[in-house]
Formats: sequence, structure tokens, C-alpha cells
Amino acid sequence: MAGIPKSFDRLARQSVKALAAATDPLMGRLAGPRLLVYHQIGAGLGREMEVPAAVFDRQMEWLVANMSVVSLEEAWRRRAEPDADRLAVLTFDDGYDDMYKAAYPTLEQAGLPFTLYLTTHPTESGEPLFPGGKADPITWQQVEDMAGSDLMTLGAHTHRHPDLRDIESGEIERDLDRSNELIERRTGISPKHFCYPYGFWASQADKPVRDRYQTAVLGSGPSFDIATEPHLIPRVPIQLSDGFRWFIAKVRTGLRLEDRIRRRVKGYEGP
Ligand SMILES: [Zn+2]
Repeated sequence: MAGIPKSFDRLARQSVKALAAATDPLMGRLAGPRLLVYHQIGAGLGREMEVPAAVFDRQMEWLVANMSVVSLEEAWRRRAEPDADRLAVLTFDDGYDDMYKAAYPTLEQAGLPFTLYLTTHPTESGEPLFPGGKADPITWQQVEDMAGSDLMTLGAHTHRHPDLRDIESGEIERDLDRSNELIERRTGISPKHFCYPYGFWASQADKPVRDRYQTAVLGSGPSFDIATEPHLIPRVPIQLSDGFRWFIAKVRTGLRLEDRIRRRVKGYEGP
């Protein structure tokens, strides 16, 4: 019973990706750097927000050969350059133990810069972000280890990962301050960059976010350019169903139709 919708879902996803790849050329060249979003690596849960470790390694190999992987700040500085579409930024959301164990060794070995948007409550408490899931949080010790490599930009991703559309600005401010305070106390780093939980922008969060951070990123893509506001930077989620083939298409041409459908279905909206 459960297998039918699952296989239909898989087929639907693959069809949308194929159609998007076929229609990308009609939409013209995709300018500007690509910000790629990862969550869990090699967790073996089969969820869309996860990439198997072997696929991740292959994706990194391809990026090294075909793109220039740079830090968030470098991509932002160079976003108007004519070949800025060759720049890729790696971002990891939430902060999972498997990110440290499965992705970081590859990043370190290849010398690839990346940004970790850390949700502080799971790391501080040791409790998983989504209860019931096999997704242990990263520890402060692991965060510190990566911070020592100079490859990592440590960004903020709230304390409790609320959907900011659902809470009022006072509560948002308290949550952001708690997150910043913990990151500073545990690592000595003052986060300058922010990631909206679930990728959802919220009007009542806009000012609190702008007051505290230099940039903020959202949950859908496909690239950014000189017209992009620093607190509304789009990103491309890399999904389990991308595998290696659609990953390349996503990075090269954006799979823009899929991105539009995701915005519509999930309700990603900017101001
Ligand atoms: Zn998140």
C-alpha cells in the first residue's frame, strides 16, 4: 500500500526534474553564484533532505573539476563578475553529527570552504532537532574542530528552529539573541550570517534579522546576482532524488521549472 504512493512520488519527482532540465535552455543563461543547501549526509534514512555519502563525494569531485567553490562572503563580493556563474557556495543547515562525520572529512581533504548554519538548541541540549528521527545534533566540540580549519563560516539558524511566520517579533528577537549568545559563548564567534528556518522568510522577522546579521538566506533558488538583496539570498536545495545526474543540471542550469513548482507548492515567498 505504502509502496504505491512512494513510487509515484519518485516518478513524479524524476519527471519534474527531467522537464525542468529540458526547459532550462529556453529561459536563457543562469547568471550569478549558486548557493547549495545540504542537510544530512549519509544518514541512511532515505529522506529528501539527505544525500548518501558516496553521492556527496562524487558531487564534490564534480564541483572541484567544474566550478570554483568559494566562501559565502567571496561569492557575495564577486557576484557581478561575468563568470560568477562558475562560483558555488556549500551550505549545511541545522548541524547534524553525520555532517561532521561524513561530509567534513571530504571538505577538509579537498580544502573546500563551507558555511554551517547551526541551530543551537539541539547542540546545547544533545536532543535531536526533529524528535523520533535518527539525526543526532553536532556537538560543540565538533563545531570547534571545524572552526579551527579556517574552512568554515559559522552562521546562525535560530535557537529552536521555529517557523518564523508563526511567531511574533518579540519572540523572534529573544530566539535570535539566545542563538547568538550561545554561539559566542561556546565558540567565540559572532555570527554575521543567518538562515531562515525551513527557508521561509517572514515579515515580522525581517527587521530583527537585518538588525543582527549581514546576510540572510532562503530555501529556494536558483542563483543570485547584483540585484539580490543581502537579506534575501536564494539557495538551491540538493535532494536525495537529485542523485548525481540532476545535481549537475541543478548547478549548471538551475532546474528552474522545478524551483518554481517548489516555491508554489511549499509557499516560499519573499516580501
Ligand atoms: Zn533548518
